[in-house]
Amino acid sequence: MPEKLVIIGSGPAGLTAAIYAARAALNPLMFEGFAAGGLIPGGQLMFTTEVENYPGFPEGIQGPEMMRAFRQQAERFGTRFHTEDVVRVDFRKRPFVVASEEHEVEAHAVIIATGARANWLGLENEQRLAKSGGGVSACAVCDGALPPFRNQELVVVGGGDSAIEEGSYLTKFARKVHLVHRRAELRASKAMQSRFFKLVDEGKMAPVWDSLVVDVIGKERVEAVRLKNVKTGKESDLSCRGLFLAIGHTPNTETFKGQIEVDEKGYIKLPGPNTVTSVEGVFAAGDVADHVYRQAVTAAGTGCMAALDAERWLAAQGIAD
Ligand code: NAP
Repeated sequence: MPEKLVIIGSGPAGLTAAIYAARAALNPLMFEGFAAGGLIPGGQLMFTTEVENYPGFPEGIQGPEMMRAFRQQAERFGTRFHTEDVVRVDFRKRPFVVASEEHEVEAHAVIIATGARANWLGLENEQRLAKSGGGVSACAVCDGALPPFRNQELVVVGGGDSAIEEGSYLTKFARKVHLVHRRAELRASKAMQSRFFKLVDEGKMAPVWDSLVVDVIGKERVEAVRLKNVKTGKESDLSCRGLFLAIGHTPNTETFKGQIEVDEKGYIKLPGPNTVTSVEGVFAAGDVADHVYRQAVTAAGTGCMAALDAERWLAAQGIAD
């Protein structure tokens, strides 16, 4: 028997969709992922520390703790889980096919909530030292507290909210955090900019404007980054023991390539004010279809919308009963 609803992804969007769908007796099956896109079940919040802006938690909550609670709530209403990455889908067939290495299932409706992953600069030495644990990371909150980074000079690349958030997190352990940005103006929100300039005043962070990291120096561990000033073309080395990238994200849509419409950056297109994708019966929620808001609360909101959209669509097909 085909599944009524399969949900792919287990961040706030997927798990909220699961809570709503399970309560609506759709008996959802979730592929919660294993390691796709460098993420783990629970998604990006599993790599976050304190979440201060999710309503209902006046004292804040740790990201992993919040995701455990989301999952328990989805499970309580009967969501079933495969802790596996989806490697193949067929949206041309009905029912649809969704497959991991271990399971192949048929589904009348699918909600895609696979999120997005961190971007890298794409430098050879960056990749080498990231893979060897040599001091390059795209997640300060995952790695920043590790002993090799403590009391050291560190570099964060980027000028958005993530760069400031990760940089300010690193100041708890580092001697100093240099923020390397390719322009002289931050993209980050006003509140984050204030946080940054306060840390600069306190001597904990320092900006390096109009600069790109063009190489990472160091055999076993990061010893310096080579910077290039984009205005003068001049190159210089900045000594540091860690390099943290905070240069945006890429949506996890590779598995759906050619089967569903995506925009030029790979985010799933939602033509209407709902979660309906270009394939009838396939819905999308969370960061995989959102490069604007990208908040836990907006992901959860669209997860709820996707479950309601799926429920109505299944009912219209006579499948929900
Ligand atoms: P973002 O806003 O897209 O910023 C990415 C930054 O990286 C930009 O400053 C960009 O430079 C720079 N960049 C991109 N590619 C680069 C490259 N190849 N080399 C050097 N620099 C590069 O991404 P984000 O900071 O991850 O934020 C994403 C979304 O999440 C935003 O909507 C943000 O508000 C939200 N967010 C919110 C919070 C919070 O409120 N607590 C925390 C984190 C994220 P340009 O500026 O020149 O383009």
